[in-house]
Amino acid sequence: KRYTKGLEKSRTGFGAKINALLANFRRVDEDFFEELEETLIEADVGFETAMQISEELRQEVKLRNAKKKSDISDAIIEKLVDMYEAEGQGEYNQLHFATQGPTVVLFVGVNGVGKTTTIGKLAHRYQSQGKKVLLAAADTFRAGAIQQLVEWGKRTNVEVVAKPEKSDPAAVVFEAVKKAKAEDYDILFVDTAGRLQNKVNLMKELEKIQRVIIREIPEAPHEVILALDATTGQNALNQAKEFSQVTKVSGIALTKLDGTARGGIVLAIRNELHLPVKLVGLGEGMDDLRDFNPEEYVYGLFQ
Ligand code: GDP
Repeated sequence: KRYTKGLEKSRTGFGAKINALLANFRRVDEDFFEELEETLIEADVGFETAMQISEELRQEVKLRNAKKKSDISDAIIEKLVDMYEAEGQGEYNQLHFATQGPTVVLFVGVNGVGKTTTIGKLAHRYQSQGKKVLLAAADTFRAGAIQQLVEWGKRTNVEVVAKPEKSDPAAVVFEAVKKAKAEDYDILFVDTAGRLQNKVNLMKELEKIQRVIIREIPEAPHEVILALDATTGQNALNQAKEFSQVTKVSGIALTKLDGTARGGIVLAIRNELHLPVKLVGLGEGMDDLRDFNPEEYVYGLFQ
């Protein structure tokens, strides 16, 4: 199993480099591991994670007494998948839903990373599955953000709660949560403004939004998803660190994975931040969103 579309760049970049390393392979020596480390770092895996992978592979190779190219190749693929799954598998990588009543998913992230698009894609996904979906346009700060969400609503035939620009985001959320409860919606996606420039304000705004949600639905929000742009590499990692200080992030939506030849940021997020990547964006279209599956991803890189 692998992602068939959207990983072409990473496959011809990161994946091909690992394949080239293996193609030129003669023996597992210091040179081999050094080149592997370099390749991983170039692919945005991050220094620490690259070193850890390399170190663990050295031990694995020794343990298995692996000498053949195919054994080394298997060991690398297994290590990349293991690295990801070490902290939890299956369900852990999926969006978490309420057992009863509306599920509330809060989206955070800086401008331009693909928050609104990801919400639109999710609206399409769950609407197609017959779920009753509601969107809340609580990014009242960025010009055009409300209109953009309203358009996604039209495109996916999903209702959107919106107020004029510069309205209090918490007021939008209040109305949306009330409506979701009163009209038996299954899922409410909330778009927020991610202004990292002013962390104190952002924290206050997100706290207020969460208070409003909790008052109506005590166990909500069921997810706080941070959207990160895969093409920004290590910068995405820094954003994740900053947002984690401001709010309790429960998972990552990694967008524009189709736009990078690196793709190793997936591993860095998991290994350094201990946050699960729950969704990956593999294009601009409505259907270009997948639940993240480490095996599909890693196999997609190499095939
Ligand atoms: P927001 O400011 O975080 O809400 O970002 P937007 O949702 O407006 O997205 C910014 C741009 O990124 C838009 O042009 C989207 O079409 C594009 N985009 C979002 N997700 C993806 C993706 O997974 N792949 C690609 N190639 N483009 C994406």
